[in-house]
Amino acid sequence: MDIELQIKKKHLDYLRFDFGYDGFNQLFRQMRCISFLRWLSKVIRENKGAEPEDLIQVELSEHHLDMVVHALSIVTYQTLCETLSSGASSEYIEGIEAVANKLRAVEDKVRQESLSEQGNNVGHLTREQFAKLIAEEIQQIYQEVLDFGNNFSGFKVKPKEIAPKLVFNFKAGTSVSFARGTQVVSLSLSPFLDDLERGKWFYWEYKSIRANKPIGEFTTQNWKLPLYALTCHELAHSFQMAIQRDARMVDLEYAQSMDKPHGKGWQGIYKDFRDQFVNRELYPEMFAN
Ligand SMILES: [Zn+2]
Repeated sequence: MDIELQIKKKHLDYLRFDFGYDGFNQLFRQMRCISFLRWLSKVIRENKGAEPEDLIQVELSEHHLDMVVHALSIVTYQTLCETLSSGASSEYIEGIEAVANKLRAVEDKVRQESLSEQGNNVGHLTREQFAKLIAEEIQQIYQEVLDFGNNFSGFKVKPKEIAPKLVFNFKAGTSVSFARGTQVVSLSLSPFLDDLERGKWFYWEYKSIRANKPIGEFTTQNWKLPLYALTCHELAHSFQMAIQRDARMVDLEYAQSMDKPHGKGWQGIYKDFRDQFVNRELYPEMFAN
């Protein structure tokens, strides 16, 4: 983006020295203010010999978009105040407002783009591209959930650290996800690929817990949430096995609560994991204080 503007030397000085850090810091974060004021100082330095009424050619940086828009409205206001009695220099103000409007439009576009990125907009991807993206993402997600479990302080008996190997596939139809103890976790990811066309992702669960909100089924527009949920489900099995094994000597009852594959013990672990990685975003009302 290339937007240039002519602005009076005295107004650059006003923004830098009078309005200054305190003025901008009302609306913008510290680091951004400092960065913007540095840029402003540089422009002023480069035009050292200019007189207050001289017009300085300024090249506006995309990096400071929102701050520049704000700064221009300050300059417009300042100019109006200065000229209240002597008749407004309307051409100057109109010029500034035109640039500010142009910048606002760009700013909106940039904001929209970053919003759709955050909203995990993958609608433009082909099935193959999406599979590639999932393949990258699932490894990070897996590591996150595994680290969380290994550091989790909520277990009655903390099991020894585990590191099951992750395998995954996009085979349609017969493939199911499973955890083989603490050795291997296998994830079957083709259903999430199929949901790309709908733009909504469904997360399937077993009948016995399907309607149990914090560990049940859900539909979401965030494609990462079902990946997290599935990883939480299978790694909960691995931690269930680890507890069953490691707690036997210290807390037999706790160890035995981990006997059933989808029993109460496992459900508790799965819920703790889901709360951390899925439910906070899916059901924010559950976490309102
Ligand atoms: Zn299971």
